[in-house]
Amino acid sequence: MSDLLQNLNKNPLTGWLTKALGLPNPVILARESGPYRAQPFKGKRVLLLGAASGNLETVLRQILEAAGAEIHDAEPQSGDERFDILILDATGLETTADYNSLYERLHPVARRIGTNGRVLLLAPVPSEAKSVEAAGVARGLEGFSRSLGKELGPRGTTVNLAYVAHDAGERLDMVLRFFCGPQTAYVSGQAITVTAQTRAPEVLPREQLLAGKVALVTGAARGIGLATAQRLRQEGAEVICLDITAASEELGRVAREMGATPLTLDISAGDAPQKLVQLVREQFGGLDILVHNAGITRDKTLGKMPEHFWQQVMQVNLAAIIAADAALLEAQLIRDSGRLVYLSSMSGVAGNFGQTNYATTKAALIGYVAALGPKLAERGICANAVAPGFIETAMTDAMPFFTREAGRRLNSLKQGGQPRDVAELICFLASPGASGINGNTIRVCGQGLIGA
Ligand code: NAP
Repeated sequence: MSDLLQNLNKNPLTGWLTKALGLPNPVILARESGPYRAQPFKGKRVLLLGAASGNLETVLRQILEAAGAEIHDAEPQSGDERFDILILDATGLETTADYNSLYERLHPVARRIGTNGRVLLLAPVPSEAKSVEAAGVARGLEGFSRSLGKELGPRGTTVNLAYVAHDAGERLDMVLRFFCGPQTAYVSGQAITVTAQTRAPEVLPREQLLAGKVALVTGAARGIGLATAQRLRQEGAEVICLDITAASEELGRVAREMGATPLTLDISAGDAPQKLVQLVREQFGGLDILVHNAGITRDKTLGKMPEHFWQQVMQVNLAAIIAADAALLEAQLIRDSGRLVYLSSMSGVAGNFGQTNYATTKAALIGYVAALGPKLAERGICANAVAPGFIETAMTDAMPFFTREAGRRLNSLKQGGQPRDVAELICFLASPGASGINGNTIRVCGQGLIGA
């Protein structure tokens, strides 16, 4: 699961050769290994800029100060001054002429973002715009931020865009902490929408974000599910690790190691929803976080696909999830302010050769969260999907060499992601501070070129 190209580049004996051949030189991404800290931006130089009278400056300044940032609000004086984080409030953009201020503010600083930097643009929500022109202008920022992400990605810098509803400024604290922090090492080129439609929790923890919460992660014996369970434990959650019988020995071991509760269950079995309801009710009284991670592939082109391949994928990746949700919601076992997270996929966004079954289920989850989230908003519950791209797991390690290399490099960061990168995004969405994000699908793909 190691990156051959990174190893060759690092080695003095072979580094010259990869350079001479013009091969990509992927930056070692700066990642966090511990939990969130109260002041994550301590020692970080943050450039906070506004374009066309954005209306978030006060709230952004408060958030950044509380997070320990060293805030700068002017272009750098000296040519070699570097910033770790750039935040641009573009919520005031309304006309095509306003784009000039976007250029004027960012052109002088585009080359001042250090390696492994973070750029976050804040834009108005197009559907709230006062005019048709303003709606188009807001949407234009997606093209801008995605292009900037491609320009800065080779240096390990991620660029993301948040559409912020007029009344959602107060929901930005955790959004900044995640999108401007090391947790977003492999999340780039994304556009999220932050709204105030979902009830916000009264108190926002700054450390041990999930203390007192009960989380259930399916498919937790290995890969992304395991990394997620570990990450949620790290933030203080009580975790139930669910996996299928075949993995039960491994499941028991990993659950024991992290201090979680193992649960051996096939989520696609007919009685799985009832068993889940019974266990959650009797042993935990309810769930605060539910991560639907278990998923399978059964690849074949449609004309050659046996019916059982189709049925298995439909059952595990979609029907079982909908049935478990229905049973848990009906039994009132998803607590108020709960967080539901679903593992979609780049295949669900872009489609993939030989994956008509898998891509259908993963795209269905994108539609499912968009419909479910608003329905549960009144209770403070959020439902969001996460769409991983190329993640370095046992699954991708088993791919043929050239397919694997292509998958790994076809993104702005020129490398694959780690299970922890996906776990970071899930952990963010599971946190109380993510109450502004509901019904979204966010990719964790290093700004993959496929389906971009
Ligand atoms: P993985 O390594 O195959 O792990 C999935 C886990 O789910 C396994 O432990 C598996 O058990 C378990 N599982 C399968 N069917 C189950 C069932 N019916 N009931 C309970 N548990 C079951 O997968 P991963 O690569 O970590 O991916 C996790 C999720 O992310 C999946 O939904 C996948 O579609 C999605 N995803 C992954 C990638 C990637 O690059 N890795 C990319 C896009 C999307 P067994 O081992 O016994 O089968």
